[in-house]
Amino acid sequence: MKPQTSIQYLKGIGEARAKLFARLGIETVNDLIFHFPRQLEDRREIKAISDLMDGETVCVMASLASEIKSYRKGRRMSITRVMVSDGSDLLQLSWFNAPYISATLERGAEFAFYGKAIFRGRHFEMVNPVVEEASSIMTKTGKIVPVYPSTAGLSQTHIRNAVRLALSELEGTLPDIIPEDIRNRYGFKNVMEALSDIHNPKTFEDFESARQRFAFEEFLVLQCGIRFLGNERRNYYATPIKNVKCIKDFAEKLPFDLTNAQKRVINEISADIQKPTPMNRLIQGDVGSGKTIVAAAAMYAVAENGYQAVLMAPTEILASQHFKNLKALFSQFGFETVLLHSGLSAPEKREAKKKIADGTAQIIIGTHALISKGVTFKNATLVITDEQHRFGVRQRLSLTEKGLGAHTLVMTATPIPRTLSLILYGDLDISVIDELPPGRKPIETYAVGEKMRKRVFSFLYENIKMGRQAYIVCPLIEESETLSAKSAVEYAEKLRTNVFPDLEIEVIHGKLKSTERQDIMSRFSKGKIDILVSTTVIEVGVDVPNASIMIIENAERFGLSQLHQLRGRIGRGEQSSYCIMFSDVGDIAKERMKIMCKTSDGFKISEKDLELRGPGEFFGIRQHGLPELKVSNLSTDMHLLALAKTAADELLSEDKTLDSPKNQALSAQIFKRFSEVSENGILN
Ligand code: ADP
Ligand code: MG
Repeated sequence: MKPQTSIQYLKGIGEARAKLFARLGIETVNDLIFHFPRQLEDRREIKAISDLMDGETVCVMASLASEIKSYRKGRRMSITRVMVSDGSDLLQLSWFNAPYISATLERGAEFAFYGKAIFRGRHFEMVNPVVEEASSIMTKTGKIVPVYPSTAGLSQTHIRNAVRLALSELEGTLPDIIPEDIRNRYGFKNVMEALSDIHNPKTFEDFESARQRFAFEEFLVLQCGIRFLGNERRNYYATPIKNVKCIKDFAEKLPFDLTNAQKRVINEISADIQKPTPMNRLIQGDVGSGKTIVAAAAMYAVAENGYQAVLMAPTEILASQHFKNLKALFSQFGFETVLLHSGLSAPEKREAKKKIADGTAQIIIGTHALISKGVTFKNATLVITDEQHRFGVRQRLSLTEKGLGAHTLVMTATPIPRTLSLILYGDLDISVIDELPPGRKPIETYAVGEKMRKRVFSFLYENIKMGRQAYIVCPLIEESETLSAKSAVEYAEKLRTNVFPDLEIEVIHGKLKSTERQDIMSRFSKGKIDILVSTTVIEVGVDVPNASIMIIENAERFGLSQLHQLRGRIGRGEQSSYCIMFSDVGDIAKERMKIMCKTSDGFKISEKDLELRGPGEFFGIRQHGLPELKVSNLSTDMHLLALAKTAADELLSEDKTLDSPKNQALSAQIFKRFSEVSENGILN
């Protein structure tokens, strides 16, 4: 039998049962053997009946010591009862609504029973124990038993039997994705042994070491796949930027001194862009660490050398804001800056595209509209994407391909935990801005309950009367942007009529037209709006120094990193800033809120986030255009990731295309996993 064979060819699986398996996503024999247990039940301990303890769940080996009796109880219920003995004592067994049990019991002499023993005065009783004939191959008693994710109508026994059959049918035909030399070097079991230890482990250690093997395999596929994407790019040529010394002139014109961290990162970038191979660098820096000016320094060098520099942001608001700031900055050097996003009018777009194509504009800023058809660059040599986590790997590549031969720089403000960035950007160089500009005051953060609402609102009111401005972030509504928008609008309306009738209150959300949004943001930044009620559209990059208070409703619905991002919108000016989070009081919520109040380090927060919520929820790895991880766990399997990285290096250094026969199963798997993602529309 081949791995791709349909499970219908397995004994005992007909059309109906196959349909049930299909609900679990299991169609082929291969799917079946990679359907891993959700937990293991330890049924190894076999006890004498006389040694049973009240309430323990164990196995006993015993034979019948009485007649099997069946009663009816009411209309719906039947009870089957029997006494069994193992020579040490008697044990009563009862089954509800399981009349077929009698037939099983009548067939054999000795049985294993597994269940919870409850003391009933004279004897122990087990209710609905698992039964197995002692002479048969025992699969569910006296051993560690796998418990699988299942679906209504499909019993654990069905799944266990099917898996057992599939494993024996596949013996010798299943290719091992981890090449043998790597397996031996790193001490991993071969695939068949490992599968047997997953589905039929003798010890918990066997199971764990098999699981680690598959986690390693997953990481290896991921690392090699990323390396392929990266290699493609490394083969490109990128225009070297000869004169980078000019950045000194740029720094001198700034109204502030660069921090040491900013200087260090600018030096790293300068070294990269002087080379004829494309720079591929990620800048990680907490909110407010001053990433934009670092990017601008690189853009300056490129423009000064006669080329175009591109900055792409994930939202129109952010792109417009960058445009406003950078236009002012670059005009003093005589460079022209253009903005392109889909919210512009048709003539504006035409004009921007023309300036991009003929080279009138050296500094180009926009949204993903920049990667649409119909935009051609004269000589883009540097491509920067801001707030990278909003873009997929493929989008990043596609922008790079447009400016063929371009250096790329990625800036992220959601500090991706180092561990995760290793996976996502296996081939990327990383610079960290780990220092905030001087004079920043920490944001005082409080988590409060509903009781405090009056006080919070009057605190807010006083501050606004003193000239400050505030953000109120409405609860996150996962299902739809439309619902979120609606709730924000209603919230603002209540605030205007019931709470602060004399204040200027506006709402901003993703359903507004881009011109409306820009108008609101511009009035807010001019101080004409006191309170800006919003959905999370303000999450990234917005910079209004006079806004010093943020209230977050239902804060427990947000991820920690997201809260940190939101909070980063304040604390940008001279005044003390306050972030007040209203939240429910679940235990996890409490712990998360505590972290927010205690910590202002974005890296620590995101590591914590990963730990508390798990990587799945954290932010879908698939969002990044990478295959989903099924076996490995990003917070506990980091050592395996490091091993897989080394192994990928070794493999690719001796066989760059993974064409040699020993690596074929691996390269097939890479192709499969990465194209699955693209079929799902994430990679385009
Ligand atoms: P982020 O890293 O979150 O994108 P920005 O680049 O928006 O941060 O910078 C935040 C603010 O800090 C901006 O107003 C910027 O002008 C200012 N800034 C950046 N670098 C410095 C510095 N070295 N000294 C003082 N202010 C700075
Ligand atoms: Mg920014």
